[in-house]
Amino acid sequence: MSEKITVKDIVDIYVKALAEADVDILERPHGHWKRISERTHACSICGRRIWVYKENLPFVKYCPLCGARMDEEDTNANETL
Ligand SMILES: [Zn+2]
Repeated sequence: MSEKITVKDIVDIYVKALAEADVDILERPHGHWKRISERTHACSICGRRIWVYKENLPFVKYCPLCGARMDEEDTNANETL
């Protein structure tokens, strides 16, 4: 295997798996990503952190750790850390 796996590939796998699992099981909570650093973001629902660059975040529509739907506005988006 010489294929290079990028962060986007991993994110795509997450998103695809979560989208396929989204079969009216439970109503998902709605949350957003809180920026911790350039490449670390915390889920506003479960508080756990994922390692994804900011520019890849729009691809992460669900928290891979708790399943929350990440469609809320991040009210702290312009806050400097
Ligand atoms: Zn979460």
